[in-house]
Amino acid sequence: MLKDEKALVVFSGGQDSTTCLFWALETFREVEAVTFDYNQRHHQEIQCAQAIAKEFGIVHHTLDMSLLNQLAPNALTRPDIEVADGKEGELPSTFVPGRNLVFLSFAGILARQTGAKHVVTGVCETDFSGYPDCRDVFVKSLNVTLNLSMADEFVIHTPLMWLNKAETWKLADDLGRLDFVRERTLTCYNGIIADGCGECPACKLRKNGLEEYLLSRKGE
Ligand SMILES: [Zn+2]
Repeated sequence: MLKDEKALVVFSGGQDSTTCLFWALETFREVEAVTFDYNQRHHQEIQCAQAIAKEFGIVHHTLDMSLLNQLAPNALTRPDIEVADGKEGELPSTFVPGRNLVFLSFAGILARQTGAKHVVTGVCETDFSGYPDCRDVFVKSLNVTLNLSMADEFVIHTPLMWLNKAETWKLADDLGRLDFVRERTLTCYNGIIADGCGECPACKLRKNGLEEYLLSRKGE
């Protein structure tokens, strides 16, 4: 029974991982969260995550991953690189090579330390911007690797893997947290909480999904 077990949620303070956090709180007996500090453009992301974890009494780990920026400078960590959608067949400038490989590996190691058998991540193949390390096949492969590397039996959960943004809003609503996720999370590349700047690719995705979901709810 998952209700008897402990999970570690990879938690950025954004819409997706906050929805995953609420999903985990319903699913597992005990939940801890981990946030990776990799000099993201907006330190507010980390403050959002800390505030949410505190409000729900969740043990919250912040790991320094600034080394990632040494290896892979990109639009999320460097103010001199513009946020732009990739051209056809190219990865967008927000892609951080190896990010989920590194983050999920560290999450697995931390999970072992904290006695959590389950790792929860909000990666999603449906609405993804072409990031190869958001694919289901990657997560499954890494799950096998983690277990082999530590002779353990972790399970990586991806509750959003096959949901589009509208369905992710529905999940938050089903968990009774639509307004909380809408008002308290930060997804915007310009660092504006809640509904954000409305113009960046992350805001557009978030807003379109919300509008689609609210419309479908009205039609019921
Ligand atoms: Zn924005």
